[in-house]
Amino acid sequence: MPFSPRRPQPPASRSIAVIGAGMAGIACARTLVQAGHRVTVFEQDAAPGGRMATEDSPFGSFDSGAQYFTVRDQRMALALDTTAPGLCRRWSANTVRVLDTQGRVAAAGLPPRDAHWVPARRMDALLRHWAAPLADAGALYTSTRVRTIARDTLDPRRWQLHTSGAEGSSGVVAGFDAVLLAVPAAPAAELLRGARATALAKAAGGSEVAPCWSLMLAFPQASQPGLSSLGPQWNAARSTHHRIAWLARESSKPGRGSIERWTVQASEAWSREHFDDDAERVCAKMLRAFSEVTGIRAAPAYAVVRRWRDAKTVKPLGHSHLWDRQAGLGACGDWCLGHRVEDAFLSGLELALQVA
Ligand SMILES: Cc1cc2nc3c(=O)[nH]c(=O)nc-3n(C[C@H](O)[C@H](O)[C@H](O)COP(=O)(O)OP(=O)(O)OC[C@H]3O[C@@H](n4cnc5c(N)ncnc54)[C@H](O)[C@@H]3O)c2cc1C
Repeated sequence: MPFSPRRPQPPASRSIAVIGAGMAGIACARTLVQAGHRVTVFEQDAAPGGRMATEDSPFGSFDSGAQYFTVRDQRMALALDTTAPGLCRRWSANTVRVLDTQGRVAAAGLPPRDAHWVPARRMDALLRHWAAPLADAGALYTSTRVRTIARDTLDPRRWQLHTSGAEGSSGVVAGFDAVLLAVPAAPAAELLRGARATALAKAAGGSEVAPCWSLMLAFPQASQPGLSSLGPQWNAARSTHHRIAWLARESSKPGRGSIERWTVQASEAWSREHFDDDAERVCAKMLRAFSEVTGIRAAPAYAVVRRWRDAKTVKPLGHSHLWDRQAGLGACGDWCLGHRVEDAFLSGLELALQVA
């Protein structure tokens, strides 16, 4: 018999649940699958994406959460190059800084510190693409909210998840060697507390995440002959208006269609102060501020707000992830490292590498 050198054995394949199909969860799940584990992803929304969200309207889509992402780490660059070549494009936003209520431009054409990348056509396209192999393998449960994590009743070394579905259905999925939470810090802390993982829950609860109101506006009248766009020359702006922190012309992003659309984000302070206001009131106030900043007085054909409870990390955990090997419980997400899409990617990746 010919000599064949012994290959190092891969670690035994384990059954792992990942809760959340945003950037952190999908990066984590894909890495664990590559390492040979059996991974099941649970997502409460109807599709993957999380805060890399796209809202559809009769006038075209809106990136209602993340506006663009930057790539500073080689591992993120490599993942994009090798697994999603050409899917993301540079967005030359010609970003400015506008001052106060008159929309005066304080700094024109701010040179971005890093290139601004967006998936062509819609923000959720990247995670839909990355999640497709999981969905094809039947390993992605959408419209499935994990309500509690508990010890498996048949095998107390393992975990089971109590879930609820879109139409109020409930279920139990058991037999997981590990459960990894890729959800914002507050729901992560709550689920970990329920699983009696007190130290992990306390660590997750120590980070702070601010809310954000987003306003989406469409002006189809701007597409009439002789009128290419309404309002200012710039396509994106950071604003010092007390209500508004950011404005972007959706239609300036690659592949988004030409109907004039704007996404507006309220400032952190104003979002906190008006967190419990009703949507109609918030919409009217943000629209008034939008007019002041851009000079656009036309009535939008479409004006809808979305409230993000957990939008932007204010105080990160300070480590890339949480992982208790003995318990088989971990957590990842942007809140571990910062407030950017790339932070979520790196957090999910680092957790998976520890678990694998
Ligand atoms: C308004 C706004 C603007 C932003 N702008 C930018 C920007 O320009 N550039 C940038 O880099 N970043 C931006 N961000 C931040 C960026 O979107 C996040 O850093 C990143 O998307 C977070 O990814 P994540 O996977 O950590 O969390 P998420 O994207 O929040 O994913 C968590 C997922 O878990 C799911 N989930 C939660 N609880 C449960 C449960 N119990 N059961 C099942 N599923 C559950 C959620 O539905 C969600 O899909 C912005 C965010 C917001 C809200």
